[in-house]
Amino acid sequence: MQLQSMYQDVILDHYKHPHGRGLRDGDAEVHHVNPTCGDEITLRVRYEGETIADVSYESQGCSISQASASVLNDLLVGVDLAEARRIQSTFLELMQSKGRLVPDDAMEEVLQDGVAFAGVSKYPARVKCALLSWMAWKDATVQVLGEGALKETA
Ligand code: ZN
Repeated sequence: MQLQSMYQDVILDHYKHPHGRGLRDGDAEVHHVNPTCGDEITLRVRYEGETIADVSYESQGCSISQASASVLNDLLVGVDLAEARRIQSTFLELMQSKGRLVPDDAMEEVLQDGVAFAGVSKYPARVKCALLSWMAWKDATVQVLGEGALKETA
């Protein structure tokens, strides 16, 4: 099977069976819109100290934006902020690669199903779809933990 179609299957699977969908208790709620595509997400985060206890969301829009929110839930729930920052910046690096970055094993270990979005990075309009939920998570995190929470300290 070709890598590209395998990736499409992963995205489609998350779209059809989104992980962690639905709004649950959170410390902050944000609503983000991607007007170029019409995607919308309402996202809540709940922290226990600096550990992400939950990321819950309701979203509507294209398969890429919805699958990305599902992958975000997989990757970020249960991890601490430092690890979440590393995952987020790795995903951002992939999405800004304009299709030039081929995920290696190290990247796959960090992003898991997130590597399926590698092909999306070729299409600037779709990159916004893929990043919508991640921007929402960053915004919600700053609301809970303050501006300093997402700045690299090391
Ligand atoms: Zn979209």
